[in-house]
Amino acid sequence: MNSVDPQRTESSGVDASEIAALAERVRGPVHTPDDEQYDTERAGYQTARWHRPDVVVGATGPADVRAAVAFASSHGLPVGVQGTGHSLAGIAADGGLLINTSRMTGVRVNAEAGTAWAAAGTRWEQVIHEAASASLAPLSGSYPGLGVVSYTLGGGLSLLSRRYGYAADHVRSIDVVTADGQLRHVTGDSDPDLFWALRGGRDNFGVVTGIEIDLMPITTLYGGGLQFAGEQAAEVFEAYLRWTATLPDELSSSIAQISFPDVPALPEALRGKQIVQVRIAYAADDLGAGESLVAPLLALGPQSHTLGELPYTQSGSVYNDPPFPGSYEASTLMLGDLDTTALRTILDLAPPKTSLPHIIELRHLGGQLAHPPAVDNAVGNRDAQFLFNVVSRLERADITEIRPAHQRLLDAIEPWSTGGRLLNFMNGENAAEEVRSAYDPKDYQRLTELKAVYDSENLFRLNHNIPPVDSHQFR
Ligand SMILES: Cc1cc2nc3c(=O)[nH]c(=O)nc-3n(C[C@H](O)[C@H](O)[C@H](O)COP(=O)(O)OP(=O)(O)OC[C@H]3O[C@@H](n4cnc5c(N)ncnc54)[C@H](O)[C@@H]3O)c2cc1C
Repeated sequence: MNSVDPQRTESSGVDASEIAALAERVRGPVHTPDDEQYDTERAGYQTARWHRPDVVVGATGPADVRAAVAFASSHGLPVGVQGTGHSLAGIAADGGLLINTSRMTGVRVNAEAGTAWAAAGTRWEQVIHEAASASLAPLSGSYPGLGVVSYTLGGGLSLLSRRYGYAADHVRSIDVVTADGQLRHVTGDSDPDLFWALRGGRDNFGVVTGIEIDLMPITTLYGGGLQFAGEQAAEVFEAYLRWTATLPDELSSSIAQISFPDVPALPEALRGKQIVQVRIAYAADDLGAGESLVAPLLALGPQSHTLGELPYTQSGSVYNDPPFPGSYEASTLMLGDLDTTALRTILDLAPPKTSLPHIIELRHLGGQLAHPPAVDNAVGNRDAQFLFNVVSRLERADITEIRPAHQRLLDAIEPWSTGGRLLNFMNGENAAEEVRSAYDPKDYQRLTELKAVYDSENLFRLNHNIPPVDSHQFR
């Protein structure tokens, strides 16, 4: 935790004797705002929005999760979940009961089946490590410190995404505590509806206690980052766009313009400057073609690059995302085909022409992401070609300036948008229609119908909420 929530809730609205009875039933800690450890238990990576629950339960396993859900249900408290707290600009629990799953870690790799089971609070780095010993790799994202469960059920755009599709497309089974307090082992055979809804609907259908995922026969990537001077932004973005049109599915990549603050902690070369970074992950059976595939980018003359063969255990070095907590505002939109006008539109609203935002990113989609998985799920927007993300550090700018700056970019890029969003990159304060945009319309309708079956009271509503059909009482 790198800062203290300025608006710490003073006390819980729940009767102290009831809380004491809950504490008797669970093995992990139970805290209310009066307790010193309350702050530690609710803190996450994202410090822009603090969870301020009435009660926080540090679950140690499925039994604790069941007890916490049953308690919340019987006291009319909505339930929120926090794994590692990496939600980019997450929905914060304001009141209600927060379940912290960070103690529930553990990975079991089944090398023969090519699968891994991970407990609710497990981070990708643990799965990557265990899978590597069986010469396998998971569909992890840019930062290995992310939580496996939330990332996967929110879509999961991995370093290998164009070759294998979304991480949510490679789930074998899910252990979940539903609103009725039952622990269910859900597969495509045992409960096809719930299995479909969880993979994309994420936290709307229960608290997941464990997940079984496919691992891929990957040990080594050809990849890394290329850094270009900010002055080359237009040239590099345009070359990147032309280049992506030529790529095989085995190559996943993104481009970002990053603006560094003028602070002494940074090396002189970066202080107050912009760079353009292209991130590459080539995962083919023969990595030999990697070098010739990236030749057109190298020909543009990067200031530096880290390209080369790297073991998947070092895959976090491709993006080098910051490992420490911070305060972020993020906005996102999925885009279709782009042209040079679209790129100029984006760069005209970015530094140095404006002072905000700090990171503007395009992730290349397509490939297997465009195809439905073997067992259908709720992840939508498979027709998008690029994912557009905008991130600003709140420590370095005022939120009242950041929001309009982000909105100007979203409005300007709208003509190239598919209208969709990927749940994993969505902002905490998204309106209901934006949550809806994460899904294809008929899938959203089916999700609201299933929500009415599995969580008719909308107990799980401290999230990007999918309300039960015909129920608008919580919106
Ligand atoms: C630095 C950084 C890099 C990122 N890179 C990528 C990337 O490459 N690809 C990508 O797809 N995404 C990426 N993301 C987005 C990330 O996947 C999502 O923010 C994801 O939700 C984070 O999950 P978490 O468990 O770490 O976070 P948390 O904040 O703990 O959880 C986020 C949400 O998931 C729900 N949730 C958590 N645990 C459970 C559970 N056990 N059961 C049910 N619901 C649960 C919570 O209700 C909460 O709303 C990145 C985010 C950051 C900050």
